Amino acid sequence: MAILICNDPGHGGTDPGAQGNGLQEKTVVLEIALKANERLKAHGFQTIMTRTDDTFIGLSERADMANRAHANYFISYHLNAGGGSGFESYVMDGYDNGETGRIRSVIHSRVAEYFVSNGLPDRGKKQADFAVLRETVMPAVLLELGFIDNGADAEKLKDAVFKSGLVEAIVRGVCEAFGVPYVPPTPPYLGYRVIEDGVQTGTYREHNNILAAIDRALSRGVSEIIVRKV
Ligand SMILES: [Zn+2]
Repeated sequence: MAILICNDPGHGGTDPGAQGNGLQEKTVVLEIALKANERLKAHGFQTIMTRTDDTFIGLSERADMANRAHANYFISYHLNAGGGSGFESYVMDGYDNGETGRIRSVIHSRVAEYFVSNGLPDRGKKQADFAVLRETVMPAVLLELGFIDNGADAEKLKDAVFKSGLVEAIVRGVCEAFGVPYVPPTPPYLGYRVIEDGVQTGTYREHNNILAAIDRALSRGVSEIIVRKV
């Protein structure tokens, strides 16, 4: 049986969440959660999302969605505010043990390593009585993925490369926690580059165009033709 993950981007609609540096929490966490959702599916997880667009969903409704679907794990995506920097994660007060604590520790390690490698601190593994953590019946975590009102954090949260790396750190943590081999994303496929006597002459995706480029090179009498996948 596939493992079912419920991805819960915080806030939405009339509730923007935290705001700062031209960013809104609801927008950034939706983008991160949607990407994580796709990457988890690529690893064979079943997934549901509590929202996939800019809609307001109540906290109990979010937990109900996960409970009704019999999700195996619940991940809530948030951004912090109010004076600080870096990453912290939450489990329900008193539940930092058993499966909830074990899974959180693995995911926390991967995400904290990523923040630290980007110069932002690990604020640690925390507990709180948050509604989505209290009302979900499966193990659950709430990720606070940086401070939207901190200049250094917000700069990272505006950076597409940082955000894709962050998604990978989360997905890697989930994979490790559930014993699923993590596979890094494949870089975008450009095509085949044709190099004649050390000079690049073009990049082609179509088989016929590659062959035509080789024919042209041969007719020019070049001594070395390299065709390299890029
Ligand atoms: Zn939030």
